[in-house]
Amino acid sequence: MSDYVFAPPAVVAIPVAGSSDKFPVRRVFCVGRNYAEHAKEMGFTGREDPFFFSKPADALVVVPDGIQGEIHYPPKTSNLHYEMELVVALGSGGKDITVEQADSCIFGYALGLDMTRRDLQGEAKKQGRPWEVGKAFDESGPIGPIHPVAKTGILNSGAIALEVNGTVKQNSDLDQLIWSIPESIAYLSGLFELKAGDLIFTGTPEGVGAVVAGDKMMGRFAGLGELKVSVI
Ligand code: MN
Repeated sequence: MSDYVFAPPAVVAIPVAGSSDKFPVRRVFCVGRNYAEHAKEMGFTGREDPFFFSKPADALVVVPDGIQGEIHYPPKTSNLHYEMELVVALGSGGKDITVEQADSCIFGYALGLDMTRRDLQGEAKKQGRPWEVGKAFDESGPIGPIHPVAKTGILNSGAIALEVNGTVKQNSDLDQLIWSIPESIAYLSGLFELKAGDLIFTGTPEGVGAVVAGDKMMGRFAGLGELKVSVI
């Protein structure tokens, strides 16, 4: 019998709120520019089709209680941005899922931050290069516990907000998504076979901005509590 040449990395797993269960993560997809007002602040019209990028699962920073998160200010940037997002966790998947079928794939929802090295992302855009250095770096995805859909119901609306050091920076509603959650799942499943364990960061509202070491971020989504993360 053969053996691994070194110990394989641990499965990245997120606690399920209200139970001792954990949700094992497979892939992490992110929707870009999915709120019209955020698309506009990034220099677009707000009417372009949304698009997708990924983070590696081990870029997640799991905040088990949702309120004592920490990330280190990452290297090679002087413009680290927060993007508060609702994250959808899939309990099943498939290829070419229809919009009508998509809600049945949802296991639950979590609060997440799509941290972005905006200067490196901007340079990549200019040069026509991939976005990994801007989006997929270590500790770029703080995430709180997953709230099962059995308790939350299907979410199509709800206030989403982010404060930095007590000042509101982002404040919108999930009903402002350009592509709804079922539309995003359906579209993604035409590009990739989705599976249980996949996460989808659904996009950030307007108001993105920079944080520095010492800043305290607090994200909220109606009914799902808070995600508190300090930059150290
Ligand atoms: Mn984002």
